[in-house]
Amino acid sequence: MYTARVEEWFAAAHFLKNFHGKCENLHGHNYKVRVTVKGSQLDAGGMLCDFGIMKSVLKEVFKDLDHHNLNDLPFFSDGNPSAERIAEYIYLELEKLLDIKPAELSLVEVFETEKHVASYTRN
Ligand SMILES: [Zn+2]
Repeated sequence: MYTARVEEWFAAAHFLKNFHGKCENLHGHNYKVRVTVKGSQLDAGGMLCDFGIMKSVLKEVFKDLDHHNLNDLPFFSDGNPSAERIAEYIYLELEKLLDIKPAELSLVEVFETEKHVASYTRN
């Protein structure tokens, strides 16, 4: 099994309801997002998938996130835009847009800082 990974950044605001700490207040992060894909077959060029495609699709997903208040997105209307839920949101959006067969999406990690990371996967 092979894996390939890309990382990109976006900036956004959020606040966490029922957190009982300073994150209850509106604040911002420069979120780092790491996307991992996996597969057992390489293309004729010996690659699992095109990094450029992964990056451009990820940037497309960021259009609804970058420089927004994440609490305003309908996806988060029934809960908090925590790093875990942001990872889930990005994973689900990438599943709709990323066409890299026979490789498949494996993991989305969201870094609020270099020390604080949450992720989402189906497998
Ligand atoms: Zn925060």
